[in-house]
Amino acid sequence: MDSIVQFENVGLRYGTGPEALSDLSFTLFSGQFYFLTGPSGAGKSSLLKLLYLAQRPSRGMIRLFDSDLVTLSRDRLPGFRRRIGVVFQDFRLVPHLSAFDNIALPLRIAGMRDADLATPVREILDWVGLSARGDALPATLSGGEQQRVAIARAVITRPDILVADEPTGNVDPDMAVKLLRLFEALNRMGTTIIVATHDIHLMTRIKRGQMMRLEGGRLFDPTGALRYPPKPSDLRGWDGESR
Ligand code: ADP
Repeated sequence: MDSIVQFENVGLRYGTGPEALSDLSFTLFSGQFYFLTGPSGAGKSSLLKLLYLAQRPSRGMIRLFDSDLVTLSRDRLPGFRRRIGVVFQDFRLVPHLSAFDNIALPLRIAGMRDADLATPVREILDWVGLSARGDALPATLSGGEQQRVAIARAVITRPDILVADEPTGNVDPDMAVKLLRLFEALNRMGTTIIVATHDIHLMTRIKRGQMMRLEGGRLFDPTGALRYPPKPSDLRGWDGESR
C-alpha cells in the first residue's frame, strides 16, 4: 500500500495557548476510508485543517503526496490544495451563485473555459442526483441538497483526498446515510476519504472504514493500525477491547 499522508510527532498550538494537537504520528494509505472521531474539542477540525493545508503545524513533520510539507515552498501550495477536496458541516456554498456555478467554481479558478466545463458539471450534478436543480440558488435547496452540491464542488477536480468535517451534522439521518454512500462510491473510485464525525451509527455503515480516535489532542491508536510498519510495542499490551 502507498502512503499518502505521514505525520511524525506533529503538534499544533494556536497562539500562546496549550497544544491543541500533540505528538501525532501516523500514516494514512492511498485509497482507504478513515473516520476521525473523538469528543468535542478533541482536535478533529484542527487535524483536518493540517490535512487540507489551512494550518501549518507548530512542530513535527508532515509528508503529503511524498513531499515534506514543512519545507514546501509557498508557490507549490496551490497545486497541492487542488489535490484535496474539502466538505464542511455548514456547506459553505457561495450564496449568490447557482448550484451549477458553485460546482463550476473550482474549474473556473483552474482556468477552464465555460464551453469545456458544462459537461463535467452536468455529469456530477447528475451523479449527486441534482440534475434538475442546477439553476437553483443555495437558499432554495434543502440541507441535504446543499451538502450534495458541496460534495460535487469538492470532487469536481477529481482530488486524490477528500476531507469532510462533520459533513452530516446538518442533515437528517436518512440523508446522512445517502451522503455517506456518495463518499463510499468516491472511495471505490480510488479517492482517499477522511471523515470527521462523532456519529458512531454512521461509522458502522461503512464496512471498510478505519477509525482514528482523538482524545485531548492525542491520537488513540491502541493497535498501531495507523502506523506503517507497526511497531511491536504498538501491538503489545493491547487487550483488544474498545474503550
Ligand atoms: P474538535 O473539532 O474535535 O471539536 P477543534 O480542533 O475544533 O476540536 O479544537 C481543539 C482545541 O483547539 C480546542 O481546545 C479549541 O478551543 C482549540 N482551537 C480550535 N481552533 C482554534 C483557534 N482558531 N484559535 C484558538 N484555539 C482554537
